[in-house]
Amino acid sequence: MSSLPNSLKNISLFLERLPGIGEKTANRLAFFLLNLPEEDLKEFAENVSDLKLKTKLCKNCFNFTEKEICEICDNSERDQSIICVVETVLDLLSFEQGRIYNGVYHVLHGKIDPLNRVGPDDIKINELINRIKLSHSAKASLGTKITEVILATNPDMEGEATAVYISNKLRIKNSELRISRLAYGLPMGANLEYADYMTLKKAIEGRNKF
Ligand SMILES: [Zn+2]
Repeated sequence: MSSLPNSLKNISLFLERLPGIGEKTANRLAFFLLNLPEEDLKEFAENVSDLKLKTKLCKNCFNFTEKEICEICDNSERDQSIICVVETVLDLLSFEQGRIYNGVYHVLHGKIDPLNRVGPDDIKINELINRIKLSHSAKASLGTKITEVILATNPDMEGEATAVYISNKLRIKNSELRISRLAYGLPMGANLEYADYMTLKKAIEGRNKF
């Protein structure tokens, strides 16, 4: 590393900070960048410097956007009465890439995780409750009334606790709201022999008519 000129070394050291990148890969990527045409590199540098400046959180759902409201919230063809609650924007993207859902989202930006000192007030739970409350209020002539909330937090301990917390909060405040949770079970192509006990238990509990 010490034999590299500073400009290259700095890029390589930065790339090494990215998740999953070791020293050798960082060097390889830095060399790759060096060999790119200058225009491409300029465009990349501009995009990097715009990243923080332009990216904001949607006022409605906390997805990333460059405007006040993200494209999903702003799309009149999407069902604005169903909210899918996810932990991160990456989770939102997974649904979007599959084009399997036509409602809107609410991104929590985390999950309740007491061991890491993340409580309900540290993620966007109050914002979700207010959003639903506002859609049910008399002043809601502006937007669609929210009728269903799908809790799509991860099926791990913290994700589960977050879903239970939100569902309890919403049940107290709103009895006519439909609250659902993503089905648990076996991934497509899974082999029962290798499935763990909890997954099988959840799969048999959540069995569907066939
Ligand atoms: Zn949005």
